[in-house]
Amino acid sequence: MAPARTGGALRNLAVMSDVSKTDEEWRQELTPEQYEVLRRKGTEPAFTGKYAFTKDDGMYRCAGCGAPLFSSDAKFDSGTGWPSFTEPAVADAVELHEDRSHGMRRTEVTCKACGGHLGHVFPDGPGPTGMRYCINSVSLELDPTAGD
Ligand code: FE
Repeated sequence: MAPARTGGALRNLAVMSDVSKTDEEWRQELTPEQYEVLRRKGTEPAFTGKYAFTKDDGMYRCAGCGAPLFSSDAKFDSGTGWPSFTEPAVADAVELHEDRSHGMRRTEVTCKACGGHLGHVFPDGPGPTGMRYCINSVSLELDPTAGD
């Protein structure tokens, strides 16, 4: 018998493993905006995302699979119009990939658990890491109960 998946502990266990869904399943599960960014590597227009200016405490989880990705402690105001972070919540929450699309050479950031596109990382951030994870709001869901 399959366990009920309503409990928080079970949900957390579920996101520890790889999430594998068909394109059609993602299309049905996500909003059109989430699908375009997470599964089609789109980019939301600057200053339009719901977390561009958010200063609330919590854990930013993957909007595709719920994996914890970025703590609000690492969020800073980059002035770019996208939520920006100095580092992931845990190092292996994300994967980095060389991205040569659109005539640029950038480093794409994806969710390690589900492969969803999150944004890009640039070596011009503040603080000790010097990194700026520039992430689409639509790829994130702020969980205010899981700050630390
Ligand atoms: Fe994910």
